[in-house]
Amino acid sequence: MAQTSGATPAPTGTVHGTTQTVILGGGFGGLAAANTLRRALPRAHAVTVIDPSRRFLVGAGKTWVMLGERKFEEISADRARLLEPGVALLSAEATAIDLAGRTVQTTAGPVRWDYLVIAMGAALRLDAVPGLDGAHTFYTVEGAEQLRTVLAGFAGGEIALLIPKAPFKCPPAPYEAALLLHEYFAKRGRGGAVKLNLYTVEGTPMATAGPEMGQYIRGELASRGIGFFTQKAVARVDQAGRKIEFADGSNAAYDLLIAVPPHEAPAIVKAANLLGPSGWIAVDPRTLEIKAAPAEGRVYAIGDITSVPLPGRFKPEVPLSLPKAGVMAAAQGEVVGQRIASLASGQTPTAAFAGEGFCYLELGGACAVKANGAFFSLPHPVMSKQPPSREQLADKLAWVARSLAPRR
Ligand SMILES: Cc1cc2nc3c(=O)[nH]c(=O)nc-3n(C[C@H](O)[C@H](O)[C@H](O)COP(=O)(O)OP(=O)(O)OC[C@H]3O[C@@H](n4cnc5c(N)ncnc54)[C@H](O)[C@@H]3O)c2cc1C
Repeated sequence: MAQTSGATPAPTGTVHGTTQTVILGGGFGGLAAANTLRRALPRAHAVTVIDPSRRFLVGAGKTWVMLGERKFEEISADRARLLEPGVALLSAEATAIDLAGRTVQTTAGPVRWDYLVIAMGAALRLDAVPGLDGAHTFYTVEGAEQLRTVLAGFAGGEIALLIPKAPFKCPPAPYEAALLLHEYFAKRGRGGAVKLNLYTVEGTPMATAGPEMGQYIRGELASRGIGFFTQKAVARVDQAGRKIEFADGSNAAYDLLIAVPPHEAPAIVKAANLLGPSGWIAVDPRTLEIKAAPAEGRVYAIGDITSVPLPGRFKPEVPLSLPKAGVMAAAQGEVVGQRIASLASGQTPTAAFAGEGFCYLELGGACAVKANGAFFSLPHPVMSKQPPSREQLADKLAWVARSLAPRR
């Protein structure tokens, strides 16, 4: 069996009267699940997080890294310190999930579980579109760091921001990036020399948030002269010719291409036959139990790796799903932690995910908009926002700081 670090011993098989919960991935969702469970159950019940990466990072900070405002160390924290005392952290990669045998294979050996939480996020695949692998991206830290240097040396020309596939995490992020890039060049006296264009496969920005939010973002882009083009499915990118070729036959030239990488569920869950028709893990929207898993109440999935269809719609022909966001993953993690704690204590679980969360859109000028969403509402999701303010940006900074605050 694998060796773990932390106060809880490594899982060694089910002991009568105790349980072993294994959480694959210690991101927003995995940390919340582990900490909630640890606080709710006595230490005899083992809680183990498995994650190969030592540092937890807040995705919202990647835009700041791209713009040279923060370094990686300032948007990340030692993962072990974000876990409640008594949660074990195994620095390993999960390589196979055996549901029937209640075991996970890892690069550090097999680990047994009584309850399993799958929280491994989304894999980012720039290679999923022909020619896109040459694009820059701020969706990874490495990409954001490279862009910091590229932007500093970009004297002028056309920048294409491209969203080739949906869903992608943090639906406002590419729009926020466009607004902040506009400010970046204006502040450096290069605003007149740089033309920003945003091409998206989406029909409208942040479709799940409703037409009002979409209109608001369109207005912000237009007021800055940022070109905006919807329903642009990409056929391929011609790197040598510096142009994007769209499926509708049109082309877009660029000097600098910045893309949101296509997102996919990690291969390990595909190999375990856990993917639904959407290409993500289908879960019960309220309990987060995996629909494909045979052991009821024992296997959960949370966060970006899941697809949660929403009951409401703005247009009958356009189905909606829960946005992929850290706040959603964390809220789901808390629910799953509570449910497992109830089951492990011999009680009927009652905790349920309410489909509520918030997001921030930074606009530049030290201002942001915070929008609160109720995504399970009928007849359609409800998202409310206030006019932009400095206070809402301060609120975002405080949320990021809280996400990085040590628990031990
Ligand atoms: C530019 C940008 C801005 C964003 N802004 C916001 C924002 O303002 N608000 C917000 O709520 N969200 C935001 N997000 C989205 C947010 O970062 C993600 O939705 C969130 O991280 C998802 O949480 P998760 O727990 O599902 O997955 P993750 O946080 O991605 O964590 C997954 C973990 O699983 C681990 N893992 C992967 N494979 C394995 C394996 N085989 N074995 C073990 N471990 C594995 C990874 O190392 C990782 O630590 C933003 C994202 C980006 C890119």
